[in-house]
Amino acid sequence: MTVLDAFDLDGETAIVTGGNRGIGRAIANALAEAGASVVVANRDAASGEEAAEEISDSTGADAFAVECDVTDEDAVEAMVEATVERFGGVDVLVNNAGIVVHEAIETMSLEEWSAVLTTNLTGAFLCSRAAGREMMENGGGVVLNVSSMSAFIANYPQRQVAYNASKAGLEGFKNQLASEWAEHGIRVNNLAPGYVATDNADQGAQVAENAVETWEGEMLMDEMASPEMLGPTAVYLASDASAYMTGETIVLDGGYTVR
Ligand code: NDP
Repeated sequence: MTVLDAFDLDGETAIVTGGNRGIGRAIANALAEAGASVVVANRDAASGEEAAEEISDSTGADAFAVECDVTDEDAVEAMVEATVERFGGVDVLVNNAGIVVHEAIETMSLEEWSAVLTTNLTGAFLCSRAAGREMMENGGGVVLNVSSMSAFIANYPQRQVAYNASKAGLEGFKNQLASEWAEHGIRVNNLAPGYVATDNADQGAQVAENAVETWEGEMLMDEMASPEMLGPTAVYLASDASAYMTGETIVLDGGYTVR
């Protein structure tokens, strides 16, 4: 076995929530390129199907889309069932679906707070619970949560307290889950990006003056990442290349937090 064989995902099945666009799309594509069959799980059925078709066409991997709101318990259970029916099991779950609300805490509504926590944190719980049961039956697997550097720092100039709380929650979630599921052969790690050029970051850029200039001024790499830059690290965390790693977070932020 060569060192590159450890990154091979041939014969594996990966669910990527929010795999239709942005970071999730790039991760789904990267996992497919490494050989995995991929399930794109998101709310907008049309873009999910389009993404699955394009991933399949460009990589040759088997890919299909399941319409799924990660905050809906029944929809999540049905999505995992559809995956098992089609591919026979689940080896990798990428909890990527996430939203941000840019609002100061003093004017934030309970609905806004709850929407962020429910999507980013409860969604990861529901998907991990459903996929984890399948992994346990099949002798193991990998859970990869897309966290954020925002779990560890304060962002500025935009306001986003619910988001940072949800991402910090994903860190505690990952630690405890890694501990509880090690005996089932399930590894749990987080990938914590810095600023990545997607719709999510665009939202932040629109609410605060000079936001992009401010962010880029803090980075050692001088510009936001493209979603594709996260692909290789996601393959590493999803594959046997990281077989000895669990309960950890890789911060991939272009040198933002080191300053
Ligand atoms: P985008 O806004 O581009 O994409 C968000 C994705 O999440 C979409 O695919 C969307 O699909 C999906 N989604 C949102 N809500 C739900 C839901 N309830 N159920 C299922 N899917 C849902 O964001 P990014 O690609 O930037 O973000 C992806 C992840 O990366 C998020 O967790 C985000 O917090 C994290 N991140 C992003 C950073 C950035 O700078 N961009 C930095 C650090 C972390 P649909 O709308 O069809 O449901």
